Amino acid sequence: MKYQRPKGTADILPEEAQKWAMVESKARSVFAKYRYQEMRTPMFESFDVFSRTSGETSDIVTKEMYDFYDKGDRHITLRPEGTAGIVRAYVENKLYGPEIQKPFKTFYMGPMFRYERPQSGRLRQFHQIGVEAFGSDSPALDVEVIALAMSLLQSVGLNSLKLSLNTLGDDESRKNYRQALIDFLEPHEAELSQDSKERLHKNPLRVLDSKDSQDQAIVADAPSILDYLTPAAQKHFDEVQDYLKALNISYEIDSNMVRGLDYYNHTIFEVMSDSKAFGGKWTTVCAGGRYNGLVEQLGGPETSGVGFGLGIERLLLILDAEKINLVENQNLDVYVVGIGSQASPKALQLVEGLRKQGFSADRDYLDKKPKGQFKAANKANAQYTLTLGEEELAQGKVNLKDMSSGQQVSVSFEQVLSDFSQVKMALLQGEGEKN
Ligand code: ATP
Ligand code: MG
Repeated sequence: MKYQRPKGTADILPEEAQKWAMVESKARSVFAKYRYQEMRTPMFESFDVFSRTSGETSDIVTKEMYDFYDKGDRHITLRPEGTAGIVRAYVENKLYGPEIQKPFKTFYMGPMFRYERPQSGRLRQFHQIGVEAFGSDSPALDVEVIALAMSLLQSVGLNSLKLSLNTLGDDESRKNYRQALIDFLEPHEAELSQDSKERLHKNPLRVLDSKDSQDQAIVADAPSILDYLTPAAQKHFDEVQDYLKALNISYEIDSNMVRGLDYYNHTIFEVMSDSKAFGGKWTTVCAGGRYNGLVEQLGGPETSGVGFGLGIERLLLILDAEKINLVENQNLDVYVVGIGSQASPKALQLVEGLRKQGFSADRDYLDKKPKGQFKAANKANAQYTLTLGEEELAQGKVNLKDMSSGQQVSVSFEQVLSDFSQVKMALLQGEGEKN
């Protein structure tokens, strides 16, 4: 019997996991500058949290939900995205309360689950880093969120990504546009994909988001939402663009962009890459927008919101393709070489003592001969070795060697265990002998 990981999942092995940790830590430091604080919500929620918010005609709800009934017959979904859970928690914990500073700015990172056809950059368990900001309608906040996304990507070394921008306007803009779109699509109904036929009357904006190439050819000539904006929606969109210009953030307007989730309105955006990681095809790494109304939909007071979600796997694919290496070589400070079985307890004491002083230290656990242990020390890029043979053991001493200069000195256990920095210094200052 062979066990395999479930389809569409990945094992993130140590070398890869270091990259993840770097991305996460860079993201955290950017979030701190923008004053977004972390929230951790459950990885599963009631099915309704997503079905109500993502939209009943969205890909996520119609095809991609990882849902099941638990032993208590509750309809549960593994979260397909981060926003709905954060909004649910925002409402449940009354984070809109008067004592909480507004806008309320938060970030999350963690796994998401979608039943997709797995391929490069598309998994069934994938990971997102995302932010949400609640409680302000200001277009300046939309642009802070966009700037934050760009900063995060810059912090990992990505500067040449494309920002696509659009607006979905307010309810009235959308209502007017919806009708215009239906009028445009109806004559093409027979040529549309099955999905799009079904969505044509239920949610025609979804058709714009179709991945079917024939659908895409048809909607290329569709009317533009930008011609249906109310004055208020137009003003919001104009201001967003003014702020982007003020920050020198370049963007392209893509009036056919609608996003995969139904809860957006006003500003929506995607950060895209044509990296060879995706065969040169423009692929979205980070996507977000405004979702005024979502808090109310989940039972909270009228509260506006704006945020984005960024796919970590896709980000890492680009970093690899661009040969951007965030991970520094991890050197080992000290490797303790113990010779003979008597040395083992002391060797263990030494590595522990060094670790407590803040050094990285390791030793042999495979009863290797000294030669093998030195090999292991080299492989681990150890800066120093401490050798502990029978003689040293009897004298309460170890032999300290600087692996790059070859300098050596004999030092007592006490010296090593009380202040290894001092011992290192002494060696540097030439108190040892070369061999
Ligand atoms: P797509 O159009 O590629 O299916 P989407 O509109 O479903 O994307 P969002 O829901 O906006 O994507 O998610 C935001 C980001 O999360 C995406 O830009 C992408 O980087 C990442 N993402 C989404 N789905 C997956 C997945 N199945 N595997 C890996 N990353 C994903
Ligand atoms: Mg999708």
